[in-house]
Amino acid sequence: MATAKLEKCEICARAVISNRAYCLMHEAARRRVTDSYHDWERAYPQISWERYLERIIELKETGEASREVARHLLVTVE
Ligand SMILES: [Zn+2]
Repeated sequence: MATAKLEKCEICARAVISNRAYCLMHEAARRRVTDSYHDWERAYPQISWERYLERIIELKETGEASREVARHLLVTVE
């Protein structure tokens, strides 16, 4: 039997957009968080993904959706 996966955002339980783990709002935030990591890497070549996520979670400037995504990515890091 095929693995049935609930088609709900892993963060907020809204419906996901196709083939993604997140809803539209959190997918947009995930893209911002991922894009912004490349900027941070240029400024801080040694920064790890995990450290970056921790930093943006702490930043006041980080939007709520981005912070939720960063927290989620941090706990799902392997
Ligand atoms: Zn969501």
